[in-house]
Amino acid sequence: MLYNTLSRKKEEFVPLNPPLVGMYVCGPTVYGDPHLGHARPAITFDLLFRYLKAEGYKVRYVRNITDVGHLEHDADEGEDKIAKKARLEQLEPMEVAHYYTERYHAAMDELNVLSPSIEPHASGHIIEQIEFIKRIMDAGDAYESNGSIYFDVENYNRRHRYGVLSGRNLDDIVTDTRELDGQSDKRHSYDFALWKKASPEHIMRWPSPWSDGFPGWHMECSAMSTKYLGERFDIHGGGMDLMFPHHECEIAQSASALGHDSAKYWVHNNMITINGRKMGKSLGNFITLEQLFTGTHPLLEQAYSPMTIRFFILQAHYRSTLDFSNDALQAAEKGLDRLMKGIEALGKAKPSNASTINADELAERCEEAMADDLNSAAVISVLFDWVRIFNQLVEGQQSASAEDLEKLRATVNRWVFDILGLRDEKAATAGGGKDLVSPLVNMLLEMRMKAKADRDWAASDAIRDRLTAIGIRVKDRKDGFDWEIE
Ligand code: ZN
Repeated sequence: MLYNTLSRKKEEFVPLNPPLVGMYVCGPTVYGDPHLGHARPAITFDLLFRYLKAEGYKVRYVRNITDVGHLEHDADEGEDKIAKKARLEQLEPMEVAHYYTERYHAAMDELNVLSPSIEPHASGHIIEQIEFIKRIMDAGDAYESNGSIYFDVENYNRRHRYGVLSGRNLDDIVTDTRELDGQSDKRHSYDFALWKKASPEHIMRWPSPWSDGFPGWHMECSAMSTKYLGERFDIHGGGMDLMFPHHECEIAQSASALGHDSAKYWVHNNMITINGRKMGKSLGNFITLEQLFTGTHPLLEQAYSPMTIRFFILQAHYRSTLDFSNDALQAAEKGLDRLMKGIEALGKAKPSNASTINADELAERCEEAMADDLNSAAVISVLFDWVRIFNQLVEGQQSASAEDLEKLRATVNRWVFDILGLRDEKAATAGGGKDLVSPLVNMLLEMRMKAKADRDWAASDAIRDRLTAIGIRVKDRKDGFDWEIE
């Protein structure tokens, strides 16, 4: 069910320590507002996390916060972006990191992305990173140069293969990660920093055996995944843009220090584009999640709700590219509405003595689609097939027994709300996204029918008026009732 990038084939997922699954995903770098680029990896790995849990696994999901060490490639003076903002605004660097971490969490809540099991910060694991660097030095794959430590790619490549994940050869690798300071300290352009000596004005610094400085960006993930998931764990994830150099460097660091690979499966989500172009500040198409939710970006024709965004992302397979446009988002909004209305219809369907449908088929087809490399797009198309049947159940063209209706409602709850993690934004959220509204309204309207049968008009009118007041319109029919949320 998972795609193993290293072996380039699909294979059945067998956890190393069942039922515990260890999963590490590269999280956000917290120096700016969460944007569209954050939504796809977060939702992709939230889907995997939810699916594995629904399948009965216990999952330890570690998603880090990068708050030090990730230098901006285009920064002019090589200063960490957090440090630069802190210096300009007279803030403690951790105030900047904390502020954007909170913004990220708030946006993830809106998108109904579950919190991971552990969310370690790079700055809180400096000791672990220093210890990890020592192990690489002991293995002979690192060298010191003017207080900084670099990974010796050539030496490593004699025993292992650098480039195994992205399929690159050392000869082909011309460094595209321009080192900003200390470029001349390196033996080769493809060597990368494990520890950097801080320049005098650099405010984020820690003592180490080599210099007062800070760890290289790739180091945090090797150190923190090993600390929380052990030397071997099941799944490592992230965006495809991280495959090289970040994940390649992580593999090299871990293989050097530990003597073997640590992650069994690598899972990468593909990138997003906006109107066919890469998202970038210089292109004027850099859209934050808040701008999307409020419709306050010049490229947006309207606001798009968090569930529209989530649904849109889930409608594509995670390994396909995904293009954001107003047309595509508006189509997703309509599709989501159709799905939610179908679920509402299922909530209203009345049981019959016999079924004309095979209620097991819905669960079987969803399971089959998801087990095929997490194909949420196929799951959604199965659900749409069944939306038609749900509507036919209400209109009397199909019938289902009470037991079958119960089965269908449980299946919808599992797939739509628990695994896809969608929320009915128009309905109450008190049930954690589960549809509690339909059964409650049906219960009240059944009580109202009983009141009418008893000629208790006061009670009957009171129930209808109270429902109307909270936005639920009741329509009486010959054989019962119908209702809808206004
Ligand atoms: Zn990472």
